[in-house]
Amino acid sequence: MNPLVPIGSSLAAACAGLIAYGAVYPRAQLFGRTLCRTDSPRKLAITFDDGPNPAITPKLLDLLEKHNARATFFVVGRYVRECPEILRETAARRHLIANHTHTHPNLFWMSAVSIQAELQQCQEAIGAALNSNAKWFRPPFGFRNPWVVKTATELGLKTVMWTLIPGDWTPQPPEKLIGNLRPIADRVQSPVANASATGDVLCLHDGGHRALNADRTHTLKALEHWLPRWRDAGLEFVTIEQAVSTPAT
Ligand SMILES: [Zn+2]
Repeated sequence: MNPLVPIGSSLAAACAGLIAYGAVYPRAQLFGRTLCRTDSPRKLAITFDDGPNPAITPKLLDLLEKHNARATFFVVGRYVRECPEILRETAARRHLIANHTHTHPNLFWMSAVSIQAELQQCQEAIGAALNSNAKWFRPPFGFRNPWVVKTATELGLKTVMWTLIPGDWTPQPPEKLIGNLRPIADRVQSPVANASATGDVLCLHDGGHRALNADRTHTLKALEHWLPRWRDAGLEFVTIEQAVSTPAT
């Protein structure tokens, strides 16, 4: 038996493990620097992926306004082209618009050229609707390869991940999602977390990447429950831009 075979296999397994970590783990920095946290335990950055979605986004905008909450929307370029008026309304209400690619592919398997095309086309869709460019980007499914963050940086985009992703992309009873969001309130009340210098970036979904009009009623209901409670607990709702640039008030 060749003794190098098991060593080679374990090395290959270790490398595969490292690549999987860098590609999938939300706070891994192996494939380039990403923003994962806010700079204060009192700042909560609520983010929404996969919109704009005519079935949910307008209702969500009303709910956020009711609680004076600003958020960040990582939008899919092809949906922006179908619903530019929703994007304009989102921006008009002082939320931050960010890039989530044009067609929502898994970028892990794509070349630098194809990744650039996906990001650029989404930039163009946002630019056509708003007359301004996005500065922030989140990879679909959070998947990265060695070219994703680098390509985004070349296009002037900073890459954003998250600290909490409660799994709202499938229909579910609102109570389940309400339960999955409990760690945010628990952390605010924890002296250890309050002594830390960072806060949460929460990844929710107002759309579905397979088609427009995905049902995200549970996301809406869970936020109806938590927004006033988070506010009462002393959290400030910030955009990704504010998450790292302004002091908590
Ligand atoms: Zn997505």
